[in-house]
Amino acid sequence: MSTYSNLNFQPVAKKIESIYQARLHLFLDEGQYRAFNLPKFYENGRVHDGHVRMEVYSVPGTGRPGFEIASKEKYRVVAKGELFGPSWTTHWFKIEIKVPDPWLKVGPVVFNWNCGNEGLIFSEEGKVIHGLSGEQRCEWVLPSSWMDGKSHTFYIETSCNGMFGNGDPNDNIQPPDDDRLFKLESADLVWINSEARALRLDFTVISECAKEMPASSWQKHRALEVANAIIDAFDESDVASIAKCRDIAKQFIGTNVNTPGVFKSDQEALIMAVGHCHIDTAWLWPYAETRRKVGRSWSTQLDLIERYPEYNFVCSQAVQYQWLKEDYPDLFERLKVQVKAGRFMPIGGSWVESDTNLPSGESIARQFIYGQRFFGANFGIRCKTFWLPDTFGYSAQIPQLCRGAGMERFVTQKLSWNNINTFPNTTCNWIALDGSQVICHMPPGDTYVSTCTVEDIYRSLSNHKNSGIDQTSLLLFGHGDGGGGPNPEMLERIRRSRGVSDTVGELPRVEMDGNVDKYFDRVEKRTDSGSKLVSWTGELYFEFHRGTYTTQAFLKKANRHSEAMLHDIELLATIASLTVPGFKYPKKRIDEVWKSVLLNQFHDVLPGSSIEMVYDDVKEIVSFVNRKLESLLTSCFNSLGLSSGSELTAVNTLPWPRSEVVKVESAAAIKALTQDTKDGKYMLLESSGSSLVAIGVNSNASLLPAIAEEIMPGVFQLSNGYLKVIVEGGLITSMVDITNGGREIIAKGSAGNQYLLYDDQPLNWQAWDSEVYSLNKKKIVPAGEVSILENGPLRATLLVKQRISEDSWMESAISLDMHNPSSAFPCYLEVNSEIEWRESCKFLKVEFPVNVHCDYATYDTMYGTIRRPTHFNTFWDVAKFEVCTHKYTDFSDFTYGVTVLNDSKYGFSVHGNIMRLSLLRSPKAPDAHADMGRHRIRYAIYGHAGPINADVVRSAFNFNHPLKATFGGIKAGIELPFYFEGPQNVVISVVKRADDDEDVSTDELPTRKGKSIILRLYDSLGGHSAGYIVSTFPIKAAYRTNLLEDDGEEIKPVSRADGKWALPISLRAFEIGTFRLQMN
Ligand SMILES: [Zn+2]
Repeated sequence: MSTYSNLNFQPVAKKIESIYQARLHLFLDEGQYRAFNLPKFYENGRVHDGHVRMEVYSVPGTGRPGFEIASKEKYRVVAKGELFGPSWTTHWFKIEIKVPDPWLKVGPVVFNWNCGNEGLIFSEEGKVIHGLSGEQRCEWVLPSSWMDGKSHTFYIETSCNGMFGNGDPNDNIQPPDDDRLFKLESADLVWINSEARALRLDFTVISECAKEMPASSWQKHRALEVANAIIDAFDESDVASIAKCRDIAKQFIGTNVNTPGVFKSDQEALIMAVGHCHIDTAWLWPYAETRRKVGRSWSTQLDLIERYPEYNFVCSQAVQYQWLKEDYPDLFERLKVQVKAGRFMPIGGSWVESDTNLPSGESIARQFIYGQRFFGANFGIRCKTFWLPDTFGYSAQIPQLCRGAGMERFVTQKLSWNNINTFPNTTCNWIALDGSQVICHMPPGDTYVSTCTVEDIYRSLSNHKNSGIDQTSLLLFGHGDGGGGPNPEMLERIRRSRGVSDTVGELPRVEMDGNVDKYFDRVEKRTDSGSKLVSWTGELYFEFHRGTYTTQAFLKKANRHSEAMLHDIELLATIASLTVPGFKYPKKRIDEVWKSVLLNQFHDVLPGSSIEMVYDDVKEIVSFVNRKLESLLTSCFNSLGLSSGSELTAVNTLPWPRSEVVKVESAAAIKALTQDTKDGKYMLLESSGSSLVAIGVNSNASLLPAIAEEIMPGVFQLSNGYLKVIVEGGLITSMVDITNGGREIIAKGSAGNQYLLYDDQPLNWQAWDSEVYSLNKKKIVPAGEVSILENGPLRATLLVKQRISEDSWMESAISLDMHNPSSAFPCYLEVNSEIEWRESCKFLKVEFPVNVHCDYATYDTMYGTIRRPTHFNTFWDVAKFEVCTHKYTDFSDFTYGVTVLNDSKYGFSVHGNIMRLSLLRSPKAPDAHADMGRHRIRYAIYGHAGPINADVVRSAFNFNHPLKATFGGIKAGIELPFYFEGPQNVVISVVKRADDDEDVSTDELPTRKGKSIILRLYDSLGGHSAGYIVSTFPIKAAYRTNLLEDDGEEIKPVSRADGKWALPISLRAFEIGTFRLQMN
């Protein structure tokens, strides 16, 4: 019998979807209808008076004492509503609670704490328990053992800063407010209604599906029906109606969302959710605060790992693990257990998430070596994925360096911030200059701080740019920085989203594994070992944040200086450890310096995008590093007997002969050619063959003196038989290369060494950005007054005084040195500028219009070179209006080229025929005083026949590793014990002792007997090269290794008739090769 009625007197309206959709938010509304809707039931009870007793100890100044000290201080009673501050101060609260008797059997009870700032809960005994972040994370679930009717005590350490420091709440990248106060809004015990909260999440996910699902899907309409049915079933006078509502929700989210069982369906998921907490190692707060952010965030994550069996967490940056180990040893032990269980997963393999434009190739190698060694020594693992979600562009050799450090995969998402072109790939093979590749994945959610909304899940599929090949992606979720990573709500959302996918379908399926290695393993498998993936060769240029090549000039200079000094010290200490009895290779001190340098390469520190407080700390670290470097160098000199003679000599740490004019501050009689200066002497020093020591050159008929003359009023000439340079008002109006057929270097009708002041008002992100339109608006720095400062024969110098503006000025010494025709190297014109810089939103650059025509220029980059266009054909070319360079930039056509050298600058551009070196910026946020004050800048220019050649590379090394004058006596016998015999494009970048040698090792990894040497060489210009590593010491055995110094293929050393040993090696174009020579 049909039940279908004959008659119908009950009309049913079709739902007006827009209105029923708009209605949904009322159900969770915290405003006018709160009392009639779900929020009414979130809490069953809340108490403070009589149940929570608080005392506080406010730490004087900006001290950050740990529990041991703080818990012994004197505390005073405190009440809710009190203000705490100012910014950056620390306040320890001692809290005694007693759960009301009627709640003891029913629970759960949370402690709700909101002081608007970051906090960390400690047990009465000082064990770290859980982090708090103001609004984002204000609850801590009390342990069940505290539901015993007794009083319990704990501590909360609070720091007066928000998640993102103390900037303007509406624009947190403005300089911090140092007088911010934080109000203690809540310190209550709350008996929560878990079912009401669960319904909130059910309803949130369903109503988001009603909004985000495609209009063509039946599921969208079904979601709307179900969500409305929940509202209709809800009765604000009957808490039991929650259960009915949750039953209705099951129609859409399924029956299993309260447990991890929801993930147990055998359906394949497209999206792997990865819990993560991106903690900037310093940024809008100092390093010292990050140490505490780590404790807060990771304790919270360990708690979540214990509560959610399906949840795993990944975290990068070895230095943060090191800090945790030092500051919170008990937490570190808990973390180790979860690492072993595969639940807390170290990732990235590097010391910090560094910048990857500015550091040298060797710095990145050390980021990996120190990172991977830390993870190896502490957890017995090595990371397989390089993890840099937030860094501002990725240098072309990164894939090769990754492979050398045991990493085959790479994750970032920063290119989604490009403001000109959209990067075309999500999952691709990223290929280095030498052909090395890594699988690169850029999570299509375009964020590393997702909150797991339905929209984020959809974007993870819809924004996938290679879904024809592979549709899967990672979804990185969790609050970054002070937010402490994922919260329970995000984990609950993912359970429900999965429930939706398995119940009604349509929503891309999410899995919770969080195992990035497993994700990549599957990508590899599905794409025929990656062979089906599209490829991207060369740098991942970031079309944004181009000001970061220049901002905070002092740190860039310090970084370059430290990198050069570390090279020199490691070389000299290696020689001493082989030749000086009793000399111990100072690995521990070298580690200390390297780790400080690597720390400051963090992606908001070296780029210049941190607050002033960070740079105050950085200045201290830099001066510590400089002191250590000086003392290490001195001890190497002393041990090698390079500083105990009576004769002035110099040390050459580069493996090729060179001669150079060196300034010495000595009044002693010198048996060589000298020139007096106002505060010392110039001396020409030369090292020949493979000598470590350069000795003074006596008068020699073939030397061509440098001469400065005023050839007409106001027109000055510098010449040395190699170059003839005309200078007028500080501008170079002519520069003739005499030895190359009288080629004029400066473009006709223009002038070089022209300073320009560009307007520099980016759309936002002042310290980070310089925008393309800034090139349209500029002022020429007016010509200055020129005088002859020095007039040869060793150095001829013109002094130019120029006013940049009312407040800023510069004095430049333009110099040419004596030409030594026996030297292999070309002569360059050197400029040393002293600048008083007092500008706002201006960008100082120096230009050289040159007589060269070519559609690309060649820039020095980490372990190689990169060519970039000099035209603006496409928007991809336009985007590169400012790019990163290292020691040199070369602009050559087929017959001739011009090279600009520098020893501390990174911003450059070559467009048309103009070479333009970026010198100083003046952003006012987030550091209001960035770069203000005195700067010393050094650069040089020269021309050469033909295209770029090995002399360019060597000259740039010479410029960055000047000869080091010392009273050594003539130790001419000391030879560089290691050098390369073969094509000159091959450079030895590192000579050091092996990390695992038993007399060197500083960590807990296994050691090796005997002494061995690590040599790293690379092809600097791009061409297959073969030759010999030559050693003056006997080599017992030799191996090719990776960056981590794991032995690979053995190479047989050859003993030669000249008493030396030779190791035949070959390198592919742009290959970096590392070799371990076992000496005894
Ligand atoms: Zn970051």
